[in-house]
Amino acid sequence: MTPSHASSPDPTVQPVPASVVRQVDAADSTLHNPHRAVLSLGSNLGNRLDTLQGAIDALEDTPGVRVKAVSPVYETEPWGVDPGSQPTYFNAVVLLKTTLPPASLLERAQAIEEAYRRVRDTRWGPRTLDVDIISYQGVTSADPALTLPHPRVHERAFVLVPWHDVDPDAEVPGHGEVASLLDGITERGVTPRPDLTLVLPD
Ligand code: ATP
Ligand code: CA
Ligand code: CA
Repeated sequence: MTPSHASSPDPTVQPVPASVVRQVDAADSTLHNPHRAVLSLGSNLGNRLDTLQGAIDALEDTPGVRVKAVSPVYETEPWGVDPGSQPTYFNAVVLLKTTLPPASLLERAQAIEEAYRRVRDTRWGPRTLDVDIISYQGVTSADPALTLPHPRVHERAFVLVPWHDVDPDAEVPGHGEVASLLDGITERGVTPRPDLTLVLPD
């Protein structure tokens, strides 16, 4: 580089004009070729509602993720454990559009669980936050690290009920319509909490 060049501004350190920043934001908010994903959120320790809302906000803050719908809140009996042995859950389902591949979405979901100090010691133990990927654009996978659709969703009213609320025509790949699956299982222990609301981030 000659001395005359040394005094001219380095293009790599020029401030980015505000108009460009706005364009980048706009591009990110529309997402190119996004995939649709359904996530289940659950919490049965700590401030359950604040935690679910925090998880939704963190998902929306994720580059390549847009939260498109948030279900009503349900209070549910813990699944797969002795009745009364754990506090009840708050559960909700969110619909996303995302450019992240499934493995990256799971990584992000687990990072959000970590942020809420999720502890994994016993299977189906109480937790501040559980974020499961229920389905990802009709993809099926038997990989134990990320099984799609979620391997137990078809028998879980605490997922199917809020999912049906936000997408009445939804289907579980390989298992059929959510509405039909709900006809075959009990909704006992899944109680609407219309007094509580989660909000879609701006
Ligand atoms: P369940 O899977 O019955 O809802 P859980 O949510 O309590 O149980 P975790 O301890 O949160 O189970 O997760 C155990 C492992 O499950 C995770 O480390 C993850 O790799 C794996 N896993 C497989 N499929 C999925 C999925 N669809 N969504 C989230 N995690 C999954
Ligand atoms: Ca789970
Ligand atoms: Ca989980």
